[in-house]
Amino acid sequence: QLSKRLQTVADYITTGNRVADIGSDHAQLPVYLIQSGKSAFAVAGEVNEGPWQAACKQIENANLTRQISARKGNGLEVVQPNEVDTVTICGMGGALISTILGQGDQQGKLEGVKELILQPNIGEDAVRVWLREHDWVLQDEAIVEEEGKIYEVLYAKKEQRADELNQKLYTGSELGLPYPAPVTNAILMRMGPYLLQKKGPVLLKKWEAEMEKLDHIIASLSQSQLDSAKAKLAAVKQDQTLIK
Ligand code: SAM
Repeated sequence: QLSKRLQTVADYITTGNRVADIGSDHAQLPVYLIQSGKSAFAVAGEVNEGPWQAACKQIENANLTRQISARKGNGLEVVQPNEVDTVTICGMGGALISTILGQGDQQGKLEGVKELILQPNIGEDAVRVWLREHDWVLQDEAIVEEEGKIYEVLYAKKEQRADELNQKLYTGSELGLPYPAPVTNAILMRMGPYLLQKKGPVLLKKWEAEMEKLDHIIASLSQSQLDSAKAKLAAVKQDQTLIK
């Protein structure tokens, strides 16, 4: 039985695809994919010895050594170009996920990959920025709450008309946000274009909690820190009038 978070990731994977799960730890996701019949072949990639050993053990216990290859290495270096159709990277920060994707892309390891399912724990905007800059297009996003934690899952595909599609996605025309284009774009990158369209209760909870955190930070600032923050804010506001 997968956690709600990993089940959400698994549900996005196209049935029949070969999958590489990077940073697989106990290889829970690849084991589920084979056992459920969703995939016939998977790679469990791990950079650290302990989690790689754990993956090997789990795969052996499940009797799946022919279907799942546990490989030790950094990011996407464990796969060959055209070896898999789907890449999943879950449970890491968005900056690390973007670095792994960027290095893999440079090494040609994303060749033949049709879909990415990414679950950043923090820094989701870094992932959206990377996807947009590399011609991947978000198809959907999910936000789930589990054991008091909130997780986002991003589902992206490589598209021919990526630029055009991304342009449309990040203008958020359906949302009718009353801001100039660069501000709307930044909001959508941060909060997620699909998540904002869906306006679910978990998204609201996430951003209410973020605001509460900011309130605490502001309350704990000294007067001089507040003055300097206000000066910075005034400068940003002035910059904004330039783009309006
Ligand atoms: N993906 C699993 C999940 O979501 O439940 C495990 C998440 S665990 C918190 C993150 C895993 O990523 C760790 O086992 C860590 O060793 C691995 N990891 C971190 N950086 C990595 C990299 N550059 N390449 C491969 N694995 C990495």
